[in-house]
Amino acid sequence: MHKMKIAVVGAGAMGSLFGALLAEAGSEVWLLDVWAEHIKVINEKGLSIEREGKTRSVEVEATTDPQRIGLADLIIVFVKSTQTAEAARVAKEMAGSGSLVLTLQNGMGNADVIAEVINPAQVVAGTTSHGATMMGPGIIRHAGAGPTVIGMWSGKDLAKARGIAQLFTHACIDTKVVENVREVIWDKLLVNVGINAITALTGIKNGQLLDLEVTKTLSRKAVEEALAVARAQGIALRDNTVEHVLKVAEATGPNRSSMGQDVDKRRRTEIGTINGVIVSEGRKLGLETPVNETLTALIETLQAHYK
Ligand code: NAD
Repeated sequence: MHKMKIAVVGAGAMGSLFGALLAEAGSEVWLLDVWAEHIKVINEKGLSIEREGKTRSVEVEATTDPQRIGLADLIIVFVKSTQTAEAARVAKEMAGSGSLVLTLQNGMGNADVIAEVINPAQVVAGTTSHGATMMGPGIIRHAGAGPTVIGMWSGKDLAKARGIAQLFTHACIDTKVVENVREVIWDKLLVNVGINAITALTGIKNGQLLDLEVTKTLSRKAVEEALAVARAQGIALRDNTVEHVLKVAEATGPNRSSMGQDVDKRRRTEIGTINGVIVSEGRKLGLETPVNETLTALIETLQAHYK
């Protein structure tokens, strides 16, 4: 079989993890990142992955220069959503007519941004329950494993997505293919809508969302607004979404949400593709989303005034 050539645009915690797992399983993998020190360490010492107290080193090609990579069969976009447009332009340089471009980023809107520059028939999207943390240049922690779900953004030609799922599953990234991947992305989005901005603004851990009725009510209202937008878009969702969100908050109780971590570290958040997208999509449908509008405005204000 032809050896797959895979390029990862945005080799942070998740991009490095996926790239390393695919390299270990035998694919030709190139990590591309703008962070020169991280790339230098990977090239000199390999990528170190901490998992359950043990550390292993994985040899993988890494560069800051997309020209060095050339055409790739699969390009995985794993930048934060604020950088997706730029990453898509870089992906285009490496994409031939038979290449696929995959996003497993959080939030809604990344696949559409990619599909503005890449032929939509070549765009694959999904979600993953793997978790990873950047520990320093050349070092990541693989925090948890779980299912990955992908589908063609066009909804057609599922065989192409199946090829990726097979490759991933062989690389210990348990992956399944669905026909309507928008529903899967919405399902995860709703969890982020109910947890991320509230925890980020208040400094609490996910589980503390359940401590007070007022906090639960705020979360529920944000999720209900998002549900109304999803329904108006014809997205089929689970019946008990509000309870599901609170259950996820409980199950991930000791964790600080990714947006919480971004705010703690004074990094730009992914608010635009989480609560922000509820506001913008709601507006197109004539739906008011005051809770999401407030949460978005507060996060935008906070991140614009970081010291
Ligand atoms: P990260 O910040 O660790 O990695 C992003 C990387 O992209 C950084 O190394 C950065 O230098 C690089 N980058 C920025 N602009 C770039 C550009 N123009 N070209 C190339 N590289 C560029 O972020 P992460 O935690 O790996 O998250 C990536 C995405 O995956 C996010 O959408 C996040 O929500 C999602 N996600 C994360 C996790 C997790 O556990 N970390 C789990 C599921 C989904």
